[in-house]
Amino acid sequence: MAKLGNPQNTIEILQKYGFQFQKKFGQNFLIDEHVLDKIIRAAGVTKDDMVLEIGPGIGTLTQYLAEAAREVVAVEIDKNLIPILENDTLAEYDNVTVINEDILKVDIAALAAERNGGRPIKVVANLPYYITTPIIMGLFEKGVPIDNITVMVQKEVAERMQAGPGTKDYGALSLTVQYYAEAYIAANVPPNCFIPRPGVGSAVIRLTCHKEPPVQCGDPALLFKLIRASFNQRRKTLQNGLNNSLELSYSKEQIAQAIESLGWNPSIRGEALTLEQFAQLADVLLAIK
Ligand code: SAM
Repeated sequence: MAKLGNPQNTIEILQKYGFQFQKKFGQNFLIDEHVLDKIIRAAGVTKDDMVLEIGPGIGTLTQYLAEAAREVVAVEIDKNLIPILENDTLAEYDNVTVINEDILKVDIAALAAERNGGRPIKVVANLPYYITTPIIMGLFEKGVPIDNITVMVQKEVAERMQAGPGTKDYGALSLTVQYYAEAYIAANVPPNCFIPRPGVGSAVIRLTCHKEPPVQCGDPALLFKLIRASFNQRRKTLQNGLNNSLELSYSKEQIAQAIESLGWNPSIRGEALTLEQFAQLADVLLAIK
């Protein structure tokens, strides 16, 4: 059976089934073998692994995953793709299960428990860009045992996930992702590696999940509220950002007192703080109330 990734084979499959791309599902299929190899290498997929693939499309990356992994579960929302996957492009792989579902509705923790005995799985995907953040946050927040998440995302999003304090890309997404994982951009991928070509640049990012959070904090929910509040109004000082947040209920004086007790300049901005410093601030505020 034809190996996808080769643009000619991809076009043949699309024509054979008269497949119509659906923009609303973020459908941009990979047609570059080097990029596909790179994703598998970056994820470090081996025959011990159970891999969850989000959005297999016509099964291009899935074929590579099936060859490298022990087992692949691929969740695809578009019902028009299911016959192509089951009867054609994935028909010869006996280690792939295709589920026709919205990934945001799948109980991934249950899937990992059932298929991998609760051991950490790998998540590998060329993500639909319109739901990158909810997918990744869902994986982190639902306590799914994960080794790494290796995904194609919009280039700007990858840069924000990897950014450190004091840079223009640093923000709530950087801090939240880095609380759960170590981010590494494995490749930048231009639009001509996809059909149809996306209107933005792309990048493969690997998020290697921490076994323990890199900072200790008495109340992680408060930590995330502080992070969101600090970056909601980027131009404001940390003090004003926290004061204006609807999620927090500390008085102006309590916030000022907390910042002072940490020995920070009262006009400091959130974008200057490390994850460790946000955790310190959370613990000081936690002690107040
Ligand atoms: N993996 C294929 C490849 O690399 O060529 C396709 C990637 S394409 C960027 C994203 C895929 O995700 C599409 O097949 C799309 O239909 C699917 N998708 C979009 N939203 C989804 C959702 N909520 N749940 C599951 N799959 C989704």
